[in-house]
Order: sequence, then C-alpha cells, then structure tokens
Amino acid sequence: MVKAENLVKRYGSNYALNDVSFEIGAGEIVGLLGPNGAGKSTAMNILTGYLSSTSGAAYINGINILDNPIEAKKYIGFLPEQPPVYGEMTVREYLDFVYELKKVEFDREAHIKEILSVVKLTDVKDRLIKNLSKGYKQRVGIAQALIGDPKVVIFDEPTVGLDPKQILEVRNLIRNLGKRHTVILSTHILAEVQAVCERVIIINKGRIIADERVDELTKTIEDGYQHEVRIVGTSSAVLPALKRISGVRSAEQLSGRDGDAFIYAVESAGSSDVRRSVFNVCAQNGWPMVGLAPVGGDLESIFIRLVDKSDRKISGGKTER
Ligand code: ADP
Repeated sequence: MVKAENLVKRYGSNYALNDVSFEIGAGEIVGLLGPNGAGKSTAMNILTGYLSSTSGAAYINGINILDNPIEAKKYIGFLPEQPPVYGEMTVREYLDFVYELKKVEFDREAHIKEILSVVKLTDVKDRLIKNLSKGYKQRVGIAQALIGDPKVVIFDEPTVGLDPKQILEVRNLIRNLGKRHTVILSTHILAEVQAVCERVIIINKGRIIADERVDELTKTIEDGYQHEVRIVGTSSAVLPALKRISGVRSAEQLSGRDGDAFIYAVESAGSSDVRRSVFNVCAQNGWPMVGLAPVGGDLESIFIRLVDKSDRKISGGKTER
C-alpha cells in the first residue's frame, strides 16, 4: 500500500534521509519512531507529496507520488505536525472546505456526519476552531485527514502538546482508525508505538536501524536479562571472553568509560543468569570488575542501545557520509 524505495533527501552535505526503504501493507498500523532530527517529518512529507526526494521513489497504492501526485494523494490523509489553523471557521465549515478542496464525491452530509462521529466532534461542530482546546483542535486535524475516506492515514507526532487524558483519547482514536485504514504514525515516544502500533520502523540520522513487530521487540526484552558490566582490562581481550561465556547471547562495548574501566552490555539468552560466569571470567583473567548492574528491559533501553549502535556504525564504519 505504501512503498519507500531508497529514499534520499539531502540538504547541502547533510542527509535528512539516507537510503530509506520499507513497504507497508494494507491495514497495517506502523510506527515510525526516532529521536528529534532523525528524519521522520522528511519521510512523512515525501510520502505525502509535500516534499520531493533527492533520489529514490515513494509509491502509494502503486502510484509514484512524484510522477502522479494528484492521483496518489487521493489515497492519503495527512495530519502534519503543525496542522493549518483556520481559527475563524467553525468545525463544520472547515470540514466542508476540506471536502471541496479534496474534490470528494461522496454524499457530503452523510460523510461529514460520520467523520464527526468517529472523531467525537459532533457536539462542537458549530464552534469556532479558535475556541477549541488543543485536544479538540487535534481531532479537527484528524477529521480533515479522514475526509475522502483515504486508504492511508499518516500522522506526524499527533500527541505533541496534549495533556495525558487527551493523549489517551487521540491514541485510542488512531488505534480504531487502524481497523479501516493503513496507518503510519510518526513519533519520538516509544510508549506511543507500544500503545498504538503493530509494527515499528526505527529511524536514526536518516537511516532505518530496526523494522520489526512491536510484540517481537517486547518479546526480545522479556526473553533475556541485560546487564551493564564495567571491567578494567584490554577490551580486545575482554569482549571476546564475554561473548564466549555459555548463556551469553550477545556482548557489546558501549561508548564512554568509567575511570579506567570499559563498559559492556551483556545480554543473556533465555532466562540464564550469567552473572557468576562473568565474575569468574574476570577473576581468572585478573580483570577487576568494578560494576555489574541490570539494565532496564523496557523498550526505551532497547531503543537507546539501537541508536547507540547505529551511531557507532555511522561514525566508525564504511557507512560514513
Ligand atoms: P524529525 O522529524 O525526525 O525530527 P526532520 O525530518 O524534521 O526530523 O529532520 C531531519 C534532518 O533534516 C534534521 O537534521 C534537520 O535539521 C534537517 N532538515 C529538515 N528540513 C530541513 C531544511 N528545510 N533545510 C535544511 N535541513 C533540514
């Protein structure tokens, strides 16, 4: 339904997107997750035809958005991070205006009535938009995205600036939309992806660093313990020794140091507890172990590690820009 093919967006020597490819099928709810500046808005804006890519292509329902924007846009509803505000219009007037703009040819009354009901705006339809709370204004933004019943709905940071209750409401609304539409949600909040999405594409510095099912990511976390170990010793000897320990799924050196100790992340497979083995290996080799602490097994920690790993790859590997 949505396909990004080797998308590159360059500003001078800076790559906002650097060879980004993914495919999203009909009916999927996908989170595009990354820290600020990762390239999320750039990707959203290219997918929706608001921005052209330096190279690569984007397809909506098989239609190339750059070659055929008018046709492709019929399949897209977009809630930009800063939706246009038409404060002097009532909700109903604004939705009528969008209906005209999109040249929709449904039964207008029935269509707009249905959308007002889906986003729970029926009671305020005759109020001026400028007098609505931020949460309601956001629902107006969602409502305009739904005009024309697009197959794909794209939300860029839909809960920024909302209070906790409004956040829950908007997330529920988006989750429900997923029953009828393909949904792409861009956010820098992990909990949002966990609450709303089935699949997550994690992006950092213009590159995709992970693309997997949210429950797989969660399973990975529940599967093993993670520990942060601080060891004094030559890392070229310590790291392989850690990796050889039975029950260790992975070991990697993290950036930063603690005095003369290097810091490692050790993940154990299944439910094995490798703390004793790590201690013994260090003792046998005469490497003082100056710290051993469990690392949070939540998505936030996984995310930080993924970003950290990709940062090191970008600055140290062949992938240098
Ligand atoms: P995100 O939405 O993930 O916060 P953006 O897509 O807005 O990230 O930005 C990605 C990168 O591209 C950032 O480094 C940003 O500074 C840069 N960028 C975005 N728009 C422009 C622009 N118009 N000119 C120059 N650089 C830009």
